[in-house]
Amino acid sequence: MVLGIALLALVSGCGGSGSAPERQDTSLDGPAVRSALDAIRGDLIRQHMSTLADDKLEGRGLGSAGYDGALRYVETTLKSYGVEPAGEGGTFQQRVPLRNSVVVEDKSSMKVTSRAGTRTLAYGVDYMLGGDQLREQVAIDNAPVAFVGYGVSAPALGYDDYANAVSVEGKVVAYLSGAPPSLPSNERAYFSSGAVKDAEAAKRGAIGTISFTSPDDPRFRWDVSVATSKQGSFAWIDAQGQPSRGDPALRGSASLNHSGVAALFAGAPTPLAEVFAAAAASRPQAFDLPTRVSLATSTTHRDIESANLVGRVKGSDPQLQAEHVVYVAHVDHFGRGVAMNGDDIYNGAHDNASGVAVVLEIAHAMTTLPTPPRRSALFLFVTAEERGLLGSDYFARHPTVPRDSLVANLALDMPFLFHPLLDIVPYGAQHSTLLAPVTRAAQHLGIGLAEDPIPEQVLFIRSDHYSFVRQGIPSLFIKSGFKTGDPALDGAKINAAYRRDVYHKPNDDMSQPFDFEAGAAHARLNFLTGWLVAQETARPAWNSGDFFGALFGETPTGTH
Ligand SMILES: [Zn+2]
Repeated sequence: MVLGIALLALVSGCGGSGSAPERQDTSLDGPAVRSALDAIRGDLIRQHMSTLADDKLEGRGLGSAGYDGALRYVETTLKSYGVEPAGEGGTFQQRVPLRNSVVVEDKSSMKVTSRAGTRTLAYGVDYMLGGDQLREQVAIDNAPVAFVGYGVSAPALGYDDYANAVSVEGKVVAYLSGAPPSLPSNERAYFSSGAVKDAEAAKRGAIGTISFTSPDDPRFRWDVSVATSKQGSFAWIDAQGQPSRGDPALRGSASLNHSGVAALFAGAPTPLAEVFAAAAASRPQAFDLPTRVSLATSTTHRDIESANLVGRVKGSDPQLQAEHVVYVAHVDHFGRGVAMNGDDIYNGAHDNASGVAVVLEIAHAMTTLPTPPRRSALFLFVTAEERGLLGSDYFARHPTVPRDSLVANLALDMPFLFHPLLDIVPYGAQHSTLLAPVTRAAQHLGIGLAEDPIPEQVLFIRSDHYSFVRQGIPSLFIKSGFKTGDPALDGAKINAAYRRDVYHKPNDDMSQPFDFEAGAAHARLNFLTGWLVAQETARPAWNSGDFFGALFGETPTGTH
């Protein structure tokens, strides 16, 4: 329990000293903080979730009336709590222009040529293509393929699939999704990112990418991926009209079902079973495949308008009020899509009506304080998280408040509300000074801290906090641990069953057995953590030598 030991040292270090600056009151026992905590109620979280996940809002899809209705509900609620607007032009809104790229399936194709001849794969059965953000027609003709393991080059962490000198110049690279289990949880998440892998491959001269999944990867749900891919991929558009994603060097990107992998590895020098075993054992690997591939991708582009909402509770300290602790939750979900069991509305009750509801109640609690915290609190409700963290990325790169005023981020996304909150996994805490306030807040509420129990889910890159991490801002993403307090409720099993059977499907609706008090507990914990960050004179900072701090952090006051 490495984390546990570090926690103890930090906690005993921050309580005792009496030399804190005069105005830095971080006592959690005062009547104002206590009554703010009492103002956080499970029934209000239930009410917000029920409204946002109602069929009337049609799953809050991008560009839909349902999404606009959800934003109106959030804005009305913020106003009723006395939160002030902090978006563009004195409003709550920040406009986010998006581009939607949808693959025209019957004008697209993938062919694999082996010694046995050329096979045309079936779209949606054997493979899928990523829509090209930049071009309507793009193709790769009969190119050689190099298999590059996980496609991860992390020599500083002792792992490099590219170390054995297989050239990928002019080739399509095929890589396994995920990253080596030997890497620490959040570093593993970073290197599992398709964007990081594609950039690495492109840097080395690759012309296309193919990803596939080991048969025992719990994230692999082909039917759900096919269903959501019908809605295409998205990017935000900059002032020059350029999309935020897409690399002109890469002329095709495919993902494969198991049948497609078998076709690609026909005649491979190493059998697939050995490839998967090496990957599971974190052994780097790369070799040329004897197959060649052709990819033709036809894409339609459509520009749509979406928006984030930004509210603010102004801080009380004349200096520190110019700085912001940012809470974020995504409003969007998949809207109406491919029907499953006769239901085509992807309500997104847990993902992420729950997080929006929790952040609304954190804002509520902040406004009940007779004296606001010293720093200001920003409440950010974002679009297009489900499409690659786009709304939060847009905000973190184009904030409606000065960029250097963003001192920390706390994200709420599917906090996991299926049992009482007895312990938490604070993703990101080990990288920065945010470990101390989240530990204090948890201890105050009698909540334990746990190590990441599901590193294979690579959660650290999977929600909006990561957009802030990439801009060098220390961040926390707090999820429930697996303790339930009830021998009849197995937290690990409930989590796995949700991810397998409900996540990103139309049955993520209000019929689930939510524990709204766990939602209230998440709100209290995040409220207290953010309040401590807002009270403390010292600005949060990355730990010295930290992986993410070194990669993205520069200096806390650096310019971008
Ligand atoms: Zn989601």
